[in-house]
Amino acid sequence: MNIDAIPKVELHRHIEGAIRYATMKEWVLEDGLLPASSTEERLRDFILITRPVDGLKVFLEKFGLIHQVLSSEARIQRMAVEACEDAYREGVRVLELRYSPVFIQGERTRLGFDRIHAAILAGIQAAVKRCPMAVGLIGILGREWDLPTATRVADFIIANRDTFIGMDLANDEANFDGKPFAGLFRKARGAGLHLTVHAGESLIPTSSQSIRSALDELGAERIGHGVQIYRDPVLMEEVAKRGILLELCPTSNILTKSISSHAAYPIRQIRAAGVRVCLNADDPGVFSYDLNHEYRLMAELHGLAEADFTAMNRDALESSFIRDDLKKSHFRA
Ligand SMILES: [Zn+2]
Repeated sequence: MNIDAIPKVELHRHIEGAIRYATMKEWVLEDGLLPASSTEERLRDFILITRPVDGLKVFLEKFGLIHQVLSSEARIQRMAVEACEDAYREGVRVLELRYSPVFIQGERTRLGFDRIHAAILAGIQAAVKRCPMAVGLIGILGREWDLPTATRVADFIIANRDTFIGMDLANDEANFDGKPFAGLFRKARGAGLHLTVHAGESLIPTSSQSIRSALDELGAERIGHGVQIYRDPVLMEEVAKRGILLELCPTSNILTKSISSHAAYPIRQIRAAGVRVCLNADDPGVFSYDLNHEYRLMAELHGLAEADFTAMNRDALESSFIRDDLKKSHFRA
């Protein structure tokens, strides 16, 4: 099986987490964040997460660095171009990218959401001319935000529903319940946007509740990660019956210690329960791997064959929020 050549549908890739290492390196040096004489090892250590890490601290550091270098529209646009090019090179033909306007903007009030969004759209438009594929954008809200911030972002996403396909909720599910944002998710759905929610990602005692809340309180049509569902057969049966697709991101879960090892990754249990899943890279830049790496691991460690990948990509295509005619013109299931 030639994994690189398999046409793929990817539904869960963060644009900010997909920045090419070579580009990060260039910006870090250009901005003087590390001296020009820095060794490759020092640069890699500064920019990437390549080993499992404890807690949020290391993540916040690395993503803080990404925020820091995203200081102009030109850089934001280049990030979007390269995210598309890289996915295309990995065989992706239907791609859902997501980003958080608040994360990119941070304290830079002059860089408004409109300008950030326009730069990302310009990047995608430029990329698809060379890399023909269907690309859709999802806007992200953070669980830890206060309601006024979340409302401001949700309203922005809704106002731009011509160029967003959906809305997502991300970050710390251990300490922040999604329920306060239920009204915003209802409003977005009412405006024609699709909904996905990061849930069942962290290894916490309440992961089943977190998935249930995403589905029943927020109306999620898909679940970002959802991997912890393997510990709850009743919920697996329910999710299978409802046809909800889990956007699995294996290596991401190992690096955050949500799952203990690649060998322990429960893809077989989840699929055996009839739950629909697809494979995704999540943050391939900062984690330093690509989507084909994920396919290869699943083939080598869990015996997934080409027919399994075909079935998963077919399910992903069906569950993709991208307009039917557009996604089907780029992918034959
Ligand atoms: Zn994610």
